[in-house]
Amino acid sequence: MKTQIKHKLLPTSSAGSLPKPSWLAQPEALWSPWKLFGQELIDGKKDALRISLHEQQQAGVDIVSDGEQTRQHFVTTFIEHLSGVDFEKRKTVKIRDRYEASVPTVVSNVSRPKAVFVEDAKLLRAQTEQPIKWALPGPMTMIDTLYDEHYQSRKALAWEFAKILNQEAKELEAAGVDIIQFDEPAFNVFFDDVNEWGIACLERAIEGLKCETAVHICYGYGIKANTDWKKTLGTEWRQYEEVFPKLKSSNIDIISLECHNSHVPLELLSLIRGKKVMVGAIDVANNAIETPEEVAETLREALKYVDADKLYPCTNCGMAPLSREVAQAKLHALSAGAQIIRNELASI
Ligand SMILES: [Zn+2]
Repeated sequence: MKTQIKHKLLPTSSAGSLPKPSWLAQPEALWSPWKLFGQELIDGKKDALRISLHEQQQAGVDIVSDGEQTRQHFVTTFIEHLSGVDFEKRKTVKIRDRYEASVPTVVSNVSRPKAVFVEDAKLLRAQTEQPIKWALPGPMTMIDTLYDEHYQSRKALAWEFAKILNQEAKELEAAGVDIIQFDEPAFNVFFDDVNEWGIACLERAIEGLKCETAVHICYGYGIKANTDWKKTLGTEWRQYEEVFPKLKSSNIDIISLECHNSHVPLELLSLIRGKKVMVGAIDVANNAIETPEEVAETLREALKYVDADKLYPCTNCGMAPLSREVAQAKLHALSAGAQIIRNELASI
């Protein structure tokens, strides 16, 4: 039986990563190397987590996170803690069928010798009474960020990762995490695989969880490979249409999507009616700060297809590559835009 917390109306959150302080890692970059080492790095990450939480609270964010301050990258940092993956043995592969990257190799059975993020989650839990959300990479996105010479089957490797993710998720839940989110940008690319086994792997990853669960499916960070890819997608982005029917019938509670400034026709949201939807109302691919009214307009449009009690205003994706000032201003705009709609709904 699910014991889900009661959220306020239109609870805001960010999709994932937030910028790191410049004393911890090089700003405005992905995979940015740490600037501290040893115990100083351990302490520095914790301080960054506290600052990120504080900034989210200052911006009026309702469902807070660690801002991924303790991770170098949303997929790789989790994989680094697993056995069976050789980070010295690197291969160049095409990620998301889009850009080449040098990735580690799966050389033997994968397993999780110990918890990865649980101590960080406990630290966050100890700092706030607000609902907290924790992001993990999804099984399909994990296998898409590796070279596999052991299982030699995307499906078999994803299933193993799903089991490992389930172990981690159960410990995160026990640590007091209210929403566990799986980041699956790969769901927007490999539609046949998603429908054949990707969603089944996701359901294996959430098996037995009592907290809320989410899947984040986006068009990626605002990096060049992604913005170039978006230019090839035409005027209507209908990728979500391919996976929504199966997602609707899945056990996942919340679906986190890119909506603002994207070419996604929002009527596609009607395909998942009944699910909770984290509606991306903040563009993470440019530095322009949305006005609260722009945010409100995206939410108003989404409300045509999502019931108000199931709409969670959010950002399109993580904001790690943005400057701290821009990211902070965007979070403020998100809160202010959500408040406009709360007021409108209250006056009906
Ligand atoms: Zn994303």
